[in-house]
Amino acid sequence: MPPWVRMQFPDATRMVKGLRDTACDAPDCAWCREKSDPVKALSRWFGFDGFRPTPTDAEGRPLQERIVDEGMRGNSLLGILPTGTGKSVCYKIPALAKFDRIGALTVVISPPVARGAYPKAQIEARCWQPDSLSDAPAILRTFKRWRL
Ligand SMILES: [Zn+2]
Repeated sequence: MPPWVRMQFPDATRMVKGLRDTACDAPDCAWCREKSDPVKALSRWFGFDGFRPTPTDAEGRPLQERIVDEGMRGNSLLGILPTGTGKSVCYKIPALAKFDRIGALTVVISPPVARGAYPKAQIEARCWQPDSLSDAPAILRTFKRWRL
């Protein structure tokens, strides 16, 4: 959405988000069934027919799929997967879906494992969510806290 539209019509951003980025449960809603389906998104952007079958959540659903589904719904989550089980799609697919639906930018903060700040940064990333990228002072304060 062009910036002038947001300036001229302040509610436009909220309305577009509500219309394009909030999935309904109607089975006949082609938009939501297409744009909110983790498996369709995986196939579209990565060419796979399904997520890795293991590990699974408590209900037996592939954990990758569960994490992507929660991310695509905009829910906060902490996903912990063993090395080599495809963690990157867990944040790439929700980011691509968000951009596809509303043109939003996603910033992924992935602290280097070798640094001692990793556990602290992971905890703060889970708890911290700026209202927008325009909240630059809050973003800078957070980055400074993570720096050793
Ligand atoms: Zn819908």
